[in-house]
Amino acid sequence: MECKKESNLKNCNCTYSCGKKGMCCECLQYHLAMKQLPACCFPAEVEKSYDRSFKKFADAWNL
Ligand code: SF4
Repeated sequence: MECKKESNLKNCNCTYSCGKKGMCCECLQYHLAMKQLPACCFPAEVEKSYDRSFKKFADAWNL
């Protein structure tokens, strides 16, 4: 299967300087290993805090 990095980048809202941008499989693995979620799971104003914890996700979406 071909990597879709270029098309993934069009949907990436991450504002952190990171080499995993567009490589969603690596991005997700990286954050899940730390009990976190990727930038694209958060509203823009929350994403900028770089707090990608499950708690922040739940708070951001009033879960
Ligand atoms: S969400 Fe995390 S791993 Fe993914 S591109 Fe942004 S900083 Fe990198």
